[in-house]
Amino acid sequence: MKFGGTSVKDAEAVGRLARIVARERQPRLVVVSALSGVTDALLDAARLAEAGDGTGAREAVRALHRRHEEMAAVVRATERRASLLAALDALFEELTAIVHALAVVEEVSPRSSDAIVAFGELASSRIVAAALEDAGLPARWLDARSLLVTDAQHGAAIPDRAATGERLRSTVGPLLAEGVLPVAGGFVGATPAGITTTLGRGGSDYSAALFGAGLEADEIQIWTDVDGMLTADPRLVAGPRVVPRLSFDEASELAYFGAKVLHPSTILPAVALGIPVRILNSHRPDAPGTLVARSVEGGEGGPAAIACKRGLTRVDIASSRMLMAYGFLRRVFEVFERFRTPVDVVTTSEVSVSVTIDDRRALDGIVAELSTFADVSSEDGMAIVCAVGERLRTDSRLATRVLGALEGLPLAMVSQGGSRKNITVVLRDADAPAAMERLHRRFFEGGRAPAPRETRATA
Ligand code: ASP
Ligand code: MG
Repeated sequence: MKFGGTSVKDAEAVGRLARIVARERQPRLVVVSALSGVTDALLDAARLAEAGDGTGAREAVRALHRRHEEMAAVVRATERRASLLAALDALFEELTAIVHALAVVEEVSPRSSDAIVAFGELASSRIVAAALEDAGLPARWLDARSLLVTDAQHGAAIPDRAATGERLRSTVGPLLAEGVLPVAGGFVGATPAGITTTLGRGGSDYSAALFGAGLEADEIQIWTDVDGMLTADPRLVAGPRVVPRLSFDEASELAYFGAKVLHPSTILPAVALGIPVRILNSHRPDAPGTLVARSVEGGEGGPAAIACKRGLTRVDIASSRMLMAYGFLRRVFEVFERFRTPVDVVTTSEVSVSVTIDDRRALDGIVAELSTFADVSSEDGMAIVCAVGERLRTDSRLATRVLGALEGLPLAMVSQGGSRKNITVVLRDADAPAAMERLHRRFFEGGRAPAPRETRATA
């Protein structure tokens, strides 16, 4: 069970967390992020130290210490609270010494930065372990650095899956078998020599997936502050619904459109082993959430979700030389590569290629260079609208139904990739809201109650 920063942000949130953990019938490893905002604050402290502002850096650490101390009030048993406060004192004393030393030398290496930023998860996990014990649960704090073995690429360390699995099986496995609830920070690890590392921002989900995979868990729960992935962006569509199940590929497609709930690559270790990942809302623990699994049944029915990306530019490249020739596409894409501009949607005919780009900073240069061997035109103010779903592969009529819902809207590009898990159209940005509204009405508005308004978008 992984709890993100907002699920541990204050005493109330930690109380909710304890109630959620207490409901589980079997013991689970609890993984927590730093309290929300703390990782940023620690990075600020590191920057102050690097700038030689020792006073500022120590003041920043003192403010963080106070925030964590206040949270210790969730622990009611006097002795337990005292020992939590002592543990926090020790942590923040060490952190003060680190920032002081770094401010003197005015240098913060990636290795030192990891040493600083790890304190967020080390402190939050201490608080959560004590709070769970206080709630009468058999919790035991573990130092994440003794569990997660990584290489020494500080700031974006690569986990050693085999070594981590061994540590988990020898330490966490027996605890779970005894009925103990181990609690550890996410995001943080150590090299085999014991030097503190971190996995990169947002890395707690990755820790949870690595731990779940190492323990061969039956399920990984990602507790957050939204109900799960939604069928569409609530800014574009009234009453989006929670998607009950998504395949890993569907979740990956949606991530491109800005689905912030979960970055699919972080859960890859779990999904590769077939371990389902459930996204759940710690404010509404009874809501079913979204289950992300390796694959979902195809069959008939609609797409899993629809998504939209706006403010794009379309570039049309035509050349009679493309007819029956090879090498033309390579030349086209080399131009985009030289200008370091990612291409999103691509469609081709025998004599022309259309692409969309998001970043138009290099557009003039790209057009000039393409014009040396093709006729080029570009148009701003375009949008991608995309229906994502495994059923596009299994239900041959679905693509036609998607396009049918868009009847009358001028489509600039239509694309269905080889995996046939999505159908994508490019149209005028001004038509995007209508397109989303129509698709949502056709596929998702069939009597069921909509998701609450405050939930976050998939896209
Ligand atoms: N606390 C870390 C961050 O904010 C890791 C995480 O929350 O997943 O990036
Ligand atoms: Mg975070």
